[in-house]
Amino acid sequence: MTLYMDANATEPLRPAARGAVLAALEAGGNPSSVHAAGRGARRLLEAAREAVAARFAPGFEVVFTAGGTEANALAIHGLGQGRRVLVGATEHPAVLAAAGPAATVLPVLADGTLDLAALEAVLAEGPPALVCAMAANNETGVRHPIAEVSALCRAHGALLHMDAVQAAGRGALPVGADSIALSGHKLGGPPGAGALLLRPGLHLPALIAGGGQERGKRGGTEPLPALAGMAAAVPEPGEAARLAALRDRIEAGLPGEGVIAGRGAPRLPNTSLILLPGVAAETQVIALDLAGVRVSAGAACSSGKVARSHVLAAMGFGELAGCGIRVSLPWNAPEDAAERFLEAWSAMRRRLSKSAA
Ligand code: PLP
Repeated sequence: MTLYMDANATEPLRPAARGAVLAALEAGGNPSSVHAAGRGARRLLEAAREAVAARFAPGFEVVFTAGGTEANALAIHGLGQGRRVLVGATEHPAVLAAAGPAATVLPVLADGTLDLAALEAVLAEGPPALVCAMAANNETGVRHPIAEVSALCRAHGALLHMDAVQAAGRGALPVGADSIALSGHKLGGPPGAGALLLRPGLHLPALIAGGGQERGKRGGTEPLPALAGMAAAVPEPGEAARLAALRDRIEAGLPGEGVIAGRGAPRLPNTSLILLPGVAAETQVIALDLAGVRVSAGAACSSGKVARSHVLAAMGFGELAGCGIRVSLPWNAPEDAAERFLEAWSAMRRRLSKSAA
């Protein structure tokens, strides 16, 4: 039996999400049509909108998108107009690319959390900014101190955009951001759905103009079945604590040379970035895959190739930045996941360390 431990790439579909997708597909209709079928689709869409707002940021406006990358791009292009854009060095490529080469990159500390002193110094330097700080990192699971970041933003008239793609559904989201990006497939919904949550009253020009959908903020027919699935992708009570216990058993079972990135920082309950000095991440991923264990090398990138992690490099890991694998437990991880992973990892280490010697 294989062991899927790559939830941060995509969570397995939750049964309730699957049911909601199928129901919306069966119902059909375009939410913008005025006839009865359209009105039925509109009701489903608005129910999904209310559920997402109530769960993640009550009172915020929900602009539906087709994924997390689009939600981040919408926020950064729209809210960044006329502002300096500041991004953390460990942000996801979706954020770094939308911010562009002119953005100011903020350093992180060795534990992966945002360097607040550096942020304050840059904020004090100049005109109003848009700060992009992720709620939790996709490779290490490290949570940024969003409350402190938000307070600094307020003090300097800056807006705060928070990429919560990985943090959402894995414990309460921090408050204090002006906009929040979410992705359906990271919650256990289907791919093709996302949302940007906006503080009420915030002006946001559309990135994709069109038929005026989403109150003119995002043109295009809404991907209703995927959005209904996203709204229904809710964790079971106690899920985060169960995954944290499994994750802790994995970390406690690693011998001395298994280094965990960001271990001392607040982290997601399901994520562990494990470094094995001297063995390339790609080699580890392939060896574990052959043993039936699916992990990834830091971030999964679209080409399927493995690059040195910019996240680990920013945390000061130097050469080791190419030796980390990300273990991210899905909502349905089996109870013996820790023991099975440790067995496969130890066998891999014995073999690869020998051949490296
Ligand atoms: N932001 C973070 C932190 C992510 O981990 C990802 C996906 O890996 C994204 C954004 C992009 O989300 P999507 O795959 O929905 O485009």
